[in-house]
Amino acid sequence: MEKVDIKSMTLPKLEAFCAQQGWKSFRAGQLFQWLHQKQVDSFDQMTNLPAEMRKTLAETCRIPGVSVRRKLVSQIDGTIKYLYELEDGETVESVLMQYQHGYSLCISTQVGCRMGCRFCASTLLGLERCLTPAEMLDEVYRAGKDSGQKISSVVLMGIGEPLDNFENVMDFLEILSAEGGMHLSLRHVSLSTCGLVDGIYRLMEKKLQLTLSISLHAPNDEIRSQTMPVNQKYPMDELLKACREYFRQTGRRISFEYALIEGVNDTPACAQQLCQKLKGMGAHVNLIPVNPVKERDYRRSSRDRVRRFQQILEQNHVNATVRRELGSDINAACGQLRRDDKGGRAC
Ligand code: SAH
Repeated sequence: MEKVDIKSMTLPKLEAFCAQQGWKSFRAGQLFQWLHQKQVDSFDQMTNLPAEMRKTLAETCRIPGVSVRRKLVSQIDGTIKYLYELEDGETVESVLMQYQHGYSLCISTQVGCRMGCRFCASTLLGLERCLTPAEMLDEVYRAGKDSGQKISSVVLMGIGEPLDNFENVMDFLEILSAEGGMHLSLRHVSLSTCGLVDGIYRLMEKKLQLTLSISLHAPNDEIRSQTMPVNQKYPMDELLKACREYFRQTGRRISFEYALIEGVNDTPACAQQLCQKLKGMGAHVNLIPVNPVKERDYRRSSRDRVRRFQQILEQNHVNATVRRELGSDINAACGQLRRDDKGGRAC
């Protein structure tokens, strides 16, 4: 019989599991603390549980985790890029960055991605599978243990599309923010989506305190459909309607990611059009000079073009910042490390 992944269970699920086994309900809280606060990786370490219970747990359950396969440390600013290996040999990436307010970890939500954004390295090999809550949690726990730093914020902006792994991501967030676990407030969590509109409505129902980021990257359907195939299913007007509704229902401002690609989406006319689209939304735009991916021929916009784009947004009262570049000496674009590693193994 396949062993049960106990680390992916939210507290209510763990309570139901304990009840099924005939264990007292407080045992679920103890187990949860061992798994998510003390973050142990074996049942032997759970010293306040009866020996008989530990034995049954070891026979029927498993505690999945990730291990560090490669680690790149920036000599410039200390940013750490992890290539993690999962138990089935697949790999994903996380990036640990230091900001004024603490350490922020960018995690992956899927092994690969099927969204097909043209400028993104994560999607080149397609989607392998979704990550489990336990695997996403262990990206966070492992980075904390390895670096010895307290992680104060988490962004779901690594490999994968979080809203294409909806249930697992919701359980991950519930466990991450639970009192008996890391207890990380969802105010310190950002979730980034390429624009799966049905997922945005589902997320809205949950009324979470997290920050929703939309990867917009274009001011109109023509450009967006060229660079982001998801736009053919959910055109911009539908996406922005969902965003307005999300803002209205949750009161949480939305952040828009805009990767500037030379000659594609970075002209003053594009900036003007973007302002029209985002008017009255209290939106924040994060401008990112695109990271070149060697399989694609997109080039990043020059500093002057980025600055001009930002000025136009601000003149039109659209709040815009240019993303600070971290770890530029280990600047494998998102998904590139995994892709190179797989390529290396295939040779
Ligand atoms: N699938 C989600 C989250 C993962 S991608 C999403 O699309 O939002 C995280 C962010 O990195 C997205 O904004 C994505 O568009 C951006 N991104 C991907 N490749 C990039 C590149 N080469 N340069 C700059 N940003 C990139």
